[in-house]
Amino acid sequence: MKFLKPLLIIIVIILASYSLFVAFPRKVNDNNYQKPSVAATIFPLYDIVKNIAGNEIDVSLILPPGASPHTFEPTPTILREMKKAQTVFMIGHGIDDWAKSLVEDSNKILAVDNGITLRPNDPHYFLTGENAILISQTVADSLILALPNLTGSISENQKKYQIELEKMNEQIKTELSKVKNRELITFHDAWYYFAEAYGLNIVGTFEPSVGREPTPQYLAKLSQKIKETGVRVLYAEPQFSTRGIEAFLNDNNVSVVIIDPEGGGVESTSFINLMISNARTIAKNQ
Ligand SMILES: [Zn+2]
Repeated sequence: MKFLKPLLIIIVIILASYSLFVAFPRKVNDNNYQKPSVAATIFPLYDIVKNIAGNEIDVSLILPPGASPHTFEPTPTILREMKKAQTVFMIGHGIDDWAKSLVEDSNKILAVDNGITLRPNDPHYFLTGENAILISQTVADSLILALPNLTGSISENQKKYQIELEKMNEQIKTELSKVKNRELITFHDAWYYFAEAYGLNIVGTFEPSVGREPTPQYLAKLSQKIKETGVRVLYAEPQFSTRGIEAFLNDNNVSVVIIDPEGGGVESTSFINLMISNARTIAKNQ
């Protein structure tokens, strides 16, 4: 009769799990329900998509905080996770081309540049209020097309968010209207759309383009421009190290201030906060 005790335990376990299943069948069903799932490549776009999607749709961010989209390579885990995304929203134009390797079906991927006036070879169009509104409209249109049963909530979310983006745009304009010295230089070429939208003038960038080391001739020209225009600040970014450019900065009497085009870290809780905080930092240091 030694085997009776283990047998009894097994029976009790089976009965207990069965009664749990009977008691909570709805719970089991709810867990099986999968929300529609979409993804976005970088934090600013992710936050815009999240605001439009609301609670009905799962949104995942692909680029980890602190990483630069220009140099990012997706890991196998990310590749696996992306399989379930119905749509992957991307900026395009070279900043996040790695997104294309995340989906087998190219119809699943959408660049959000519809209606935006693009600068040649410059994907940083998401850094203005007006373009963020256009992006939010593109995202809403695409989500409605894919999930027509959510049309009501998606268009309502878009309308609300557009009002917030309009307020943000006005706030940035107000912040930057007080700035007397409108000339600046940046480390990488991320801020031309922003500068154009808010009346600043980027005299030059330390790197001619992302990842390209400046030649001595290039830097000599940049120094000349700094002198002519009275630039005092170089705006660098948390994603790029400025080690190795101290000599250039000292020679030109230029100080470094950090602003952030990508966000996603602890301080940037939203795209709107990120944009306003960048504008404030510039206003304070010009
Ligand atoms: Zn960039």
